[in-house]
Amino acid sequence: MSKINFFALGGLGENGKNLYVLEFRNKETDDIDGIFILDAGLKYPTDELYGVDTLLPNISYIIEHKDKVKAIFLSHGHEEQIGGVLEILKVVSVGVFASHFTISVLEDMIIEAGLNLSDYRLYRINEEKQLKFGEISVEFYNVAHSIPEAMHIVVRSEDGLIVYAPDFSFDVNNNSKYRTSIAKICDLGKEPVLAVMAESIGSTNINRVNNDIVLDRVINDILKSSGRVIFSAYSEELSRIQKIIDLAIAASRRVAIIGIKAQKIVNKGIETGYLQIPPSKLVSLKYIDPLKGNYNNDKDLVVIVTGSRHKPFYMIQRMCRHQDRLIEINKDDHIVIASPTKQGNEIIAARTIDEVYKIGAKYTNITKDIMRSSHADSQDLNMLYSILKPKYIIPIEGEARHLMIHKKICIDQGFNEDNIIILENGEVVSFVDGQKCPSQNKIKTGDVLVDGSVVGDISRQVLKDRELMAEEGLVLINMAINKEDNVIRSLPDVVLKGVIPVTSSSEVISKLVDVVMDEVQLQIRRHKYVDYDYLTEALIVSVSHEIKQMTKKNPKVIINFVDCIK
Ligand SMILES: [Zn+2]
Repeated sequence: MSKINFFALGGLGENGKNLYVLEFRNKETDDIDGIFILDAGLKYPTDELYGVDTLLPNISYIIEHKDKVKAIFLSHGHEEQIGGVLEILKVVSVGVFASHFTISVLEDMIIEAGLNLSDYRLYRINEEKQLKFGEISVEFYNVAHSIPEAMHIVVRSEDGLIVYAPDFSFDVNNNSKYRTSIAKICDLGKEPVLAVMAESIGSTNINRVNNDIVLDRVINDILKSSGRVIFSAYSEELSRIQKIIDLAIAASRRVAIIGIKAQKIVNKGIETGYLQIPPSKLVSLKYIDPLKGNYNNDKDLVVIVTGSRHKPFYMIQRMCRHQDRLIEINKDDHIVIASPTKQGNEIIAARTIDEVYKIGAKYTNITKDIMRSSHADSQDLNMLYSILKPKYIIPIEGEARHLMIHKKICIDQGFNEDNIIILENGEVVSFVDGQKCPSQNKIKTGDVLVDGSVVGDISRQVLKDRELMAEEGLVLINMAINKEDNVIRSLPDVVLKGVIPVTSSSEVISKLVDVVMDEVQLQIRRHKYVDYDYLTEALIVSVSHEIKQMTKKNPKVIINFVDCIK
């Protein structure tokens, strides 16, 4: 009999940054016997975090207890599950266990970061494997998701099974490489199941379709039409990309893929045998060259435009405006949006459709109504719970509303409300001898901001500045001055960016030149030794005040004195 703690360092009340911890403790002494890490992902920031590339979970708890960490298990190769693993491996030397495909994606991340593969202990497992960590054994089963070889992780404790069940669905009509092992789940369901931690992202969806027959028919009809067809697809949805490729080849067409991320994952798919594309059917596009008559617009061409979040939409807009170097969309093309909107990209998606209409190209929007989500909806969750019959359910992965709707689905299915545990990041639930016990512990959590290759060193002030510049614009003033004898060498050079239209800026600029000159001359007249730091601060105040009066805007002001000796 034991004490088992479960908590999240990320993933609860948010979309991404999944990092869950299962901790086994001695019931008498409360000493930690072992820590198992379930996924370690990143999150993409909202637009308010200007310029920040990604967010990672705060792993100070793991660093503090690094000697107790027994293993890291990864469910699948999406960035929301594996994008933060390298940060942990920097400080904790421990084995990472995942499917063949997931480890392949992780290996690429390690190589891309300029690190040495041989420094890491990466283990490829499959659902036949059972791992032993002292008293605890761990096994896996395959699940259908949009990336190959997604798995759920099953930890066998003396108080019953603990099933970590992130992104999945019971999509049965899928390619065999993406299939859920229903038989194995049924076998596990014969044993006592202490707790299931299952995803909540799809809990607000209702999958109106159980398979892709309607989707196949829609795509086939489009491919039968004459002319070039351009699809948008999310790069992480490899199963979708695979489907478009399969149908295109069956329709005797050739395929080109645009988008580095998808190209990489497609190459990985071909390398590992997950994607089968005859080389003659895969086209690599050349830059548009009117002199050579190259427009990449062969009638048999299917172009798949891929990327995550905003990317596919952004690229299609660029193609519509003839700003892209590979594809110019024209009225003979058929544009198929096969990337249903996600939270945060609705506006850019709508604008993209406008651009396509302006060109006069044919347009088809593949909606969620005919496209099955690769996340568990209420029916998938009901099915999992009715097979596993868990004592406790902990909804994971998702914003607060997803977690609460997930809870309601469980209550509607007849689960005792007290046994459905809603947690926040850092909040701990303890199971002692298989019974839920309240815990006062709250583990430190939070976002670690990643900007380029810098991790965790971006101050709120930097973000504030970026926000100011994005919303209010920028005023940059350069002035040449000989600081030794305080002689002004040039008039202030004033540059306005994003404050007012260039055409109406001359009056504002000449006024600002006056303001700066007045202040500088005043300081020079008054003081033998001019404090240029003080002068800079004073100028920022007076320039900001003046520009607010004239334009009602509050831009970021940067003053730069260029020191000219003579
Ligand atoms: Zn996923």
